[in-house]
Amino acid sequence: MELFKAMSDKAYEAVHFFHDAETGLRAIIAIHDTTFGPALGGARALSTYANEEAALVDALRLARGMTYKAALAGLPLGGGKSVIMLPKTPFDRAALFTAFGRAIESIGGRYITAEDSGTSTEDMDSIRRGTSHVVGLAKSRGGSGDPSPFTAFGVLRGIQAVAKFSLGRSDLEGLKVSILGVGHVGFPLARLLKEQGAELWVADINDESVRRAQDELGAKAVPTSDLPGLDVDVFAPCALGGSINDQTLPMLRCKAVVGSANNQLLEERHGVELQKRGIVYAPDYLVNAGGLINVALEVDGYDEKKSRELCSAIYDTMYMILERAKAEGSRPEVVADRIVEERLASAKKAKAIA
Ligand code: NAD
Repeated sequence: MELFKAMSDKAYEAVHFFHDAETGLRAIIAIHDTTFGPALGGARALSTYANEEAALVDALRLARGMTYKAALAGLPLGGGKSVIMLPKTPFDRAALFTAFGRAIESIGGRYITAEDSGTSTEDMDSIRRGTSHVVGLAKSRGGSGDPSPFTAFGVLRGIQAVAKFSLGRSDLEGLKVSILGVGHVGFPLARLLKEQGAELWVADINDESVRRAQDELGAKAVPTSDLPGLDVDVFAPCALGGSINDQTLPMLRCKAVVGSANNQLLEERHGVELQKRGIVYAPDYLVNAGGLINVALEVDGYDEKKSRELCSAIYDTMYMILERAKAEGSRPEVVADRIVEERLASAKKAKAIA
């Protein structure tokens, strides 16, 4: 990869590479943009990166996504991400993550880390021994705890905005919703929807999770492969990315897609296809921002009430995006990206003048 070309193409500010001989740490911190504040983004730790370039590509892609997510949520934060290439041989995990904490400390607060795929709250505790620039600690350690219920609440607010603007409903009573994946986000989302009177269909590869949704919430169980084809109002992908793809698109009979999974559109063209079919798409990085909002509030002292207020405001942003998309004949995800780019451009301009 031509690194500087990749950085200049998408306006990355910095990429840091760290190595610690004693613990075997090999880590990359990508900082996309710090116009609105320090770059916040989780630390991914995997032993399965095919090579260094694969790790770098992951860090770059994810860091840029964080800029967009934080900016659209109105947070005073930028976007960054880190990846750790875990040793393939036995290693001292706590020592490695503490070394990673020292690496974060060395860049002086421009990057703040958090939990992500392959890392745990214990790892965050280890990082904390090397730096204070870490959020998403356990509640027992003064942190904000599990962000998933806040993510679920934000998705609910997204569904409410879509229901109001696009489906002409003032409440969710009788709204038919299918949820793919009833895990940390999907299950609390199902519960919130149930409280609002929605009718639920769920699918999950984990039978236990499906049973729980049936028993506790009265949800109807559907085979995973059939769920996208249900005649519902809202399809909520809450499992893995890429749920909207060439296989599922022709099956879809929903009126809207609103879920927590990252990168729900396998490719950009799948968003175009949704629009052609008259299916409303809620930009994933807008409606799933609740978890980020919640951990972000740890930076200046956690406040649960404020977190709920900011998550609730996802409704207003979603509604405004739907209005703009309709007025411009555009797609919600295109409008969302443009709003972020406009906000960044005007903030950079204001900084340059100051
Ligand atoms: P999770 O692992 O707790 O839940 C995912 C669920 O999906 C699990 O129950 C799993 O069994 C199921 N699943 C996995 N593959 C499946 C498949 N092919 N078909 C059907 N079910 C499948 O994860 P989570 O924390 O609930 O996150 C769900 C999605 O939301 C992920 O894409 C995640 O990146 C995204 N997200 C989560 C948060 C958060 O706060 N947890 C924040 C933003 C985005």
